[in-house]
Amino acid sequence: MSNQIENPIALAIHGGAGTITQGSINREEEEEYRRGLREPLEEGKKMLQVGVDAFDVVVHVVAMLEDNPLFNAGRGSVFTNSGTHEMDAAVMRGSDRAAGAVAGVSGIRNPIELARLVLEKSEHVLLAGAGAEEFAREMGLPFEEAAYFHTDQRYAQLLEAQKVGRVQLDHTENGGEETGVGEEKFGTVGAVACDVRGNLAAATSTGGMTNKRWGRVGDSPLIGAGTWADNRTCAVSCTGHGEYFMRWVAAYDLAALIEYRGLPLEEMANYLVKIKLREAGGEGGLIAVNRQGEVALPFNSEGMYRGWTDGTDLHVGIYRDLLG
Ligand code: ASP
Repeated sequence: MSNQIENPIALAIHGGAGTITQGSINREEEEEYRRGLREPLEEGKKMLQVGVDAFDVVVHVVAMLEDNPLFNAGRGSVFTNSGTHEMDAAVMRGSDRAAGAVAGVSGIRNPIELARLVLEKSEHVLLAGAGAEEFAREMGLPFEEAAYFHTDQRYAQLLEAQKVGRVQLDHTENGGEETGVGEEKFGTVGAVACDVRGNLAAATSTGGMTNKRWGRVGDSPLIGAGTWADNRTCAVSCTGHGEYFMRWVAAYDLAALIEYRGLPLEEMANYLVKIKLREAGGEGGLIAVNRQGEVALPFNSEGMYRGWTDGTDLHVGIYRDLLG
């Protein structure tokens, strides 16, 4: 018999942040989004409860979000300028800071699985483009035809973005501002978890920006910018205007604030997102967890598709101030 005390478990996920107000989606769509968040949370919770590693849980949960066309990752990825899909993903393990990431990959059903294989089966951290796809083929990962990634709504966004000659962050409704900030939704997905052994992990996956070109890569696959995990501090997954999250090294900055200032996770996460990034003009949010099982989900945009569970309660939220 083991009388070893188990670490409190926690899991948080996001499905992107942006101009998401109660008027911007109808009731049916809202219910679909809520279901799209609740189901992976429920599965992830069960996995954590039976002792599955945080690392396996975040990969599994993000793969579920990638399979849901509502979110800008995997199947629901936005279109590039040339009508293709280029996806980015990263995963990081908090016990040893092992990390794997891919950037600008096409045709791969679950980029997060490829990121995981980069960590487990290669001696590298980040693989990009054709080389990453070759690695995926060698690993036997499933590929899909272009039709799998086609959604009418995303294609309409591309045509709209091309009409106004701009790169857009996910499903912008009326174009937003030239700066890329103002009317956007960022549909990137992510998960962070703490397991019964107190191990942390983070995973992030995205299709990036509508109408992007020149091999543009965002913050999501960059370790320290959009994704980070270290058992000593926290696990983090970001969503938002990637260029800011890269320049502010957002995910690692949260860990550094905690490590060097010794202040609570939620206080530092709020400071980073609601003060530092907001003042810089970096719209978006993040999810974070520490090994005490504490969770933070701050955002400085109108809304963020998000949810968390500690094994007892399970909450899903979309708009500001509503996490129920
Ligand atoms: N951060 C992502 C990027 O810039 C976009 C998003 O969060 O939806 O690629």
